[in-house]
Amino acid sequence: MSTTRVAIVSGSNRGLGLAIVRGLCKDFKGDVYLCSRSEASGKEAVKSLETEGLCPKYHQLDICDENSVLSLKEFLVKNYGGLDVLVNNAGFAYKSASTEPFGKQARDTVDVNYYGTLKISNILLPIMKKGGRVVNVSSFVSLMSIKKCSEELQSIFRSQTITEEELSSKMEEFVAHARAGDHVTHGWPDTAYGVSKVGVSVMTWIQARQMRMRGLDDVLINACCPGWVRTDMAGPKATKSPDEGAITPLYCALLPEGAKEPHGKFLSDKTIKEW
Ligand code: NDP
Repeated sequence: MSTTRVAIVSGSNRGLGLAIVRGLCKDFKGDVYLCSRSEASGKEAVKSLETEGLCPKYHQLDICDENSVLSLKEFLVKNYGGLDVLVNNAGFAYKSASTEPFGKQARDTVDVNYYGTLKISNILLPIMKKGGRVVNVSSFVSLMSIKKCSEELQSIFRSQTITEEELSSKMEEFVAHARAGDHVTHGWPDTAYGVSKVGVSVMTWIQARQMRMRGLDDVLINACCPGWVRTDMAGPKATKSPDEGAITPLYCALLPEGAKEPHGKFLSDKTIKEW
């Protein structure tokens, strides 16, 4: 088994994830795995970085497929004895012009962004090594969306004691109301992406708390927003290039050895933002 350090970036065949892999290849002392659902597009992306003189490695990863995540875990344990850096970047958003019923948009978006991130976290966090770093790529939209929730929902999502089960049950409540078409009258914002990213942010505080309770405080887990980035998701009018968007996720992934903070926070522009 290698003693080399290892970093994983989900959804890194394109967009922000690809830029995060590029940055890690330059600044992380260890092996960096570009991961994608489709092996063909992931291997194309590896080739494109090789032409820049970088050496990412590749592993298949679909965050919604338990077998795919388990096979990555097995690979990491066997070859590296665990994991040093996990960047949960993979995400999904319907285009605003989509004509899919809102209930289906809610189901699909919560499934990828919330449950996919939860699945990979629950499978890989137990193998994080001492000094590990976990970055959940959330969004400023989560900050905007929590403010649009009813006061009751806001206090649940800001609670210091909310559990994973309670959070998941709130996500299910949102999907059920979205299907019934009455989510707004029940205090939810009118955005499936926003609610899914509220889930990702709150999940991050829960995970940080769990790490503290297990005495694993040297593993730092943070949520962040990359800014508005020119990718397939956000389109060409966005203000940041993918490399500029990668700056804050890379900052969180590369927090120096021995750092105690930030932990369980939301960052954008390398700065902690109030939740
Ligand atoms: P893109 O749509 O360009 O890329 C999304 C990536 O996620 C793709 O690689 C896609 O793979 C992958 N993905 C989707 N579903 C899964 C899955 N089930 N398993 C594994 N990978 C999956 O988006 P961005 O690069 O813009 O977004 C990256 C992250 O940044 C997302 O979490 C997004 O929400 C967040 N973000 C983006 C902002 C922006 O302005 N762009 C702003 C704030 C946050 P495939 O190619 O196979 O579809």
